[in-house]
Amino acid sequence: MRYGGFTSCIALAHDGDEVPTLVLDAGTGIRHVSDLTGDNAFNGTILLTHLHWDHVHGLPFFTAGDREDARVSLWLPEQPGGANATEVLARGMSPPHFPIGPEGLRGDWSFSSMSPGRLRVEGFTVEAAEIPHKGGRTFGYRVSDGRSALAYLPDHCPTKFGPGADGWGEYHSAALELATGADVLVHDAQLRSDELASEACFGHAAAEYAVSLGQRAGARTVVLFHHRPDRTDDELDQLAEQFGSVSGPAVIVAAEGSVLKL
Ligand SMILES: [Zn+2]
Ligand SMILES: [Zn+2]
Repeated sequence: MRYGGFTSCIALAHDGDEVPTLVLDAGTGIRHVSDLTGDNAFNGTILLTHLHWDHVHGLPFFTAGDREDARVSLWLPEQPGGANATEVLARGMSPPHFPIGPEGLRGDWSFSSMSPGRLRVEGFTVEAAEIPHKGGRTFGYRVSDGRSALAYLPDHCPTKFGPGADGWGEYHSAALELATGADVLVHDAQLRSDELASEACFGHAAAEYAVSLGQRAGARTVVLFHHRPDRTDDELDQLAEQFGSVSGPAVIVAAEGSVLKL
């Protein structure tokens, strides 16, 4: 009720701009992005971390992007076997699963695949790195405007690389490089450490890992993100309290509609 229940979507705007031009993931939260463009169409780029439903299902409900005067470049991780981006998206979004396919979205849309590495989009520099998750190639992103940097790892299963120093998962180089010195680290916190043993098989991280990664990487703020669907508001308040006085980064529990100014 208070933290919200829409799925992963982050919108970035340059300093002084109210209107975002870069969107990370297209979960149901992308509906809110249309509220930010006023009467105008969206003109920008969407980067998907991976293709799980909770990161893609908002796409056909992105009203600011689904109109004749919109211009949208969508990028997703290159798939093993080389299937093209439109075809991969259409596997989850086309009849009989949904009334239209990706090409049915109105406006000037392009669908492309990307490899790990650097991409320059909408005046931002993006570093993409492959990170462990479950069932499908998954990227984490680091986005910089040359002044501030945001690291985004919404779905991350570091225990895939071993237990690490504290049992919460390995602090591997891809995660550390994305998060190093970031002003904001938005990180998977679906689990608590006491749930890891029974639920790590779902491919997610514990909140304790997210905070510890932020500390190790020297991030200024850690945003605990991608809450477990049945987590209550009170439980999320407890999580905020648990990390309210850790040394190092400020820790924020993500809530729908939160705005951060960097
Ligand atoms: Zn996922
Ligand atoms: Zn997810």
